[in-house]
Amino acid sequence: MIAAKGYAAQTPGTPLAPWNFERREPGPHDVQFDILFCGVCHSDLHQVRNDWFPGIFPMVPGHEIVGRVIKVGDHVKKFKVGDLAGTGCLVDSCRTCENCRQDLEQYCLNGNSQTYNGLEQDKKTPTYGGYSNTIVVHEDFVLHISKKLDLAAAAPLLCAGITTWSPLRHWKVGKGHKLAVLGLGGLGHMGVKFGVAFGAEVTVLSTSPKKEADAKKLGAHHFLVTTDPAQVKAATHSFDFILDTVSAEHDINMYMSMLKTHGTHICVGVPPKPAPIHPFSLIGGRKSLAGSGIGGLAETQEMLDFCEKHNIVSDIEIIDIKNIQDAYDRMLKGDVRYRFVIDMATL
Ligand SMILES: [Zn+2]
Ligand SMILES: [Zn+2]
Repeated sequence: MIAAKGYAAQTPGTPLAPWNFERREPGPHDVQFDILFCGVCHSDLHQVRNDWFPGIFPMVPGHEIVGRVIKVGDHVKKFKVGDLAGTGCLVDSCRTCENCRQDLEQYCLNGNSQTYNGLEQDKKTPTYGGYSNTIVVHEDFVLHISKKLDLAAAAPLLCAGITTWSPLRHWKVGKGHKLAVLGLGGLGHMGVKFGVAFGAEVTVLSTSPKKEADAKKLGAHHFLVTTDPAQVKAATHSFDFILDTVSAEHDINMYMSMLKTHGTHICVGVPPKPAPIHPFSLIGGRKSLAGSGIGGLAETQEMLDFCEKHNIVSDIEIIDIKNIQDAYDRMLKGDVRYRFVIDMATL
């Protein structure tokens, strides 16, 4: 086994603290890479607190992981020592089910292996995430990261990036479409960047008028304050798509009134409670309410390659791992522009 160190929550809700643990020796198909940066996702905060479901503890969060390869197994073809590498929300899947065979490992029917707070495919070995110094992953679940990108700012592409990329691609959002991005946080700011890059006319919907300047700087064409009933009313039947990135409670019915006929409201954020939907919100205009979760491995690489070509990364604030609790507190208040990324040299 390999000695690893990281930051872990020992039990639900306890503050993260240094923890020594072990990872497997790289097997024939494994890549080991030293972690240089790890993004801080909203889901990290929720999972260490057991907000969504009972977790596996001790828990080392982190699934926006980038670093440099230090060891490869004998059969590894895609990577060599010294390459930049990344791993997102998944480290394995069954590879045989209908979805895995279609590059949809994120929807593996036999249960994929989440990068942390999950189990390897043996269904008993816990996985530990990227708030740590090193990681061992099967090469099929390791992504190439371009040297041309700012490495720290590329880390959030592995969750926030792919989570917004995948639905925009699936619904073929682009030229001629009016896209509304609901919420301007870690996910939302990537949704804006991709929407603009795909040629859509992008409006940011936000409760906070203070975010207008930022939205425009990110490339959004319009900005709408959703707490202003006059602005909401004026936007009735306006959008082909709403990309809903909000993880706090909100009235989806109100937002769906802003969709055109045949419009689609796509949920990627996860509020703590189920949202009531009035059937009339769907019936009037034959509208769709949909959802999307992260993305498959091939699709994630496609996104990273697109980002290299178009020089797209996240807007980030680099933090010392010792300040992770402070970062969580600030994230809860929405006080981050737009993603914290841990400099793992501070571990
Ligand atoms: Zn995430
Ligand atoms: Zn599968």
